[in-house]
Amino acid sequence: MDQPGITLYGAHWCPDCRRSKQFLGEHQIPYRWVDIEQDPAGEKYVLQKNGGKRIIPTLEFPDGSILVEPTTAELAAKLGLKTKARRSHYDLLVVGGGPAGLTAALYAAREGIDTLVIERAAMGGQAATTEHLDNVPGFDEGIEGSLFGERLKHQAERFGAELLQAQEVVRVSSHDNYTYVDTADGGRYSGCALLLATGSRYQRLGAPGEESFVGSGIHYCATCDGPFYKGLPVAVVGGGNSAAEESLFLLNYVERVTLLVRGEELKGSQVIREKASNHPQIDLRFRTEVAEFRGERGKLTGVTIRNRQTGATEEIHPAAVFVFIGQSPNTAILKDSAVRLDRWGYILTGHDLLHAQDRPAGYENREPSLLETSIPGIFAAGDARAGSTKQVASASGEGATAALLIREFLKNT
Ligand SMILES: Cc1cc2nc3c(=O)[nH]c(=O)nc-3n(C[C@H](O)[C@H](O)[C@H](O)COP(=O)(O)OP(=O)(O)OC[C@H]3O[C@@H](n4cnc5c(N)ncnc54)[C@H](O)[C@@H]3O)c2cc1C
Repeated sequence: MDQPGITLYGAHWCPDCRRSKQFLGEHQIPYRWVDIEQDPAGEKYVLQKNGGKRIIPTLEFPDGSILVEPTTAELAAKLGLKTKARRSHYDLLVVGGGPAGLTAALYAAREGIDTLVIERAAMGGQAATTEHLDNVPGFDEGIEGSLFGERLKHQAERFGAELLQAQEVVRVSSHDNYTYVDTADGGRYSGCALLLATGSRYQRLGAPGEESFVGSGIHYCATCDGPFYKGLPVAVVGGGNSAAEESLFLLNYVERVTLLVRGEELKGSQVIREKASNHPQIDLRFRTEVAEFRGERGKLTGVTIRNRQTGATEEIHPAAVFVFIGQSPNTAILKDSAVRLDRWGYILTGHDLLHAQDRPAGYENREPSLLETSIPGIFAAGDARAGSTKQVASASGEGATAALLIREFLKNT
């Protein structure tokens, strides 16, 4: 890992510190965390820089400059992230800079289609958050997820796609044959076509107390937060492939994993199940659920777990809990649009749209193409699409397919 150039002074109970941590984590920017409640030198530094006031978060950058309680926009600007586009209109707007969005962008830009990608976090999507990708075609030795994300980004840029980071799309609409996206900073961009490549995200447990400790004892990304718990015991919640896989990965850092499984057994690949079941540092607890997360001053201190068969409860005190219980699509921005979703919120495309009783408007004289949504000219690819296979190779494949379908669409409009 790179030597961190940024030092973030804060405290575990401080929500703005968590926001800054999350921002740096999402952008895969290495930093050194100093909890001023544990580190008197750190506290002294904060007091000195803030005229005797204990203001956190205080961030120190490699050039010696300081930001105190920065907004997300201030932090993005300081880090040199491009959050504003050069123009307000493009041939193609792509929402999401994961494997689907970036592959589509590089294909489209290479075809001479003027393309803008808008990404709310760092380029690379979920793929960039994983330590090692072993099944991406062409990388016979595997590739680090973050490096894969970087390479996709450079490739899309090499062909001329314009990429925005740290910029969230909050609304999608269409009228008069144009598509529009509104961004969180009040901006609006229009396009002749739009690709939704917003992917999916980790699901939360919904247990009491969970929201209070997110990022401060409860985590959903082992790669991002595992290193904070070096040599300590942690708990993992989940019974599928990712829970078992991430437990094994966490053991690169942590001392021990208590794996809490609701069901009677682990599910998923046999190889991973066997590895996790036989690992001497993994303590498997079946028929077990989290009843409550508890803590003090915003810091997780204990977890009440319950045996689902007997109802007996028990207190455990892991340093952190990592939750891996599946994913849901990032499609909330489509809530008020006419883009049709399935019952889990994934985007319907192509033939799936024709099963409905009412044919979507605009398709009176033709059928939607394979990856076209219920709004003509708006396409979807990757994990956010109903029926997608949730893999890097397939998300990239869908991105490439979408770009070629969009090229045909643009030719005919
Ligand atoms: C820990 C982990 C390990 C994995 N390991 C593997 C593996 O080994 N092999 C494999 O093939 N697959 C793996 N996957 C799955 C793979 O990463 C995904 O299938 C793939 O990344 C999906 O690509 P995507 O582009 O569809 O979506 P994503 O990668 O989810 O990218 C979508 C992007 O859209 C952005 N976005 C969402 N909403 C908005 C908005 N409103 N405004 C702006 N941007 C937005 C998100 O921030 C995100 O960057 C793994 C996933 C995880 C989480």
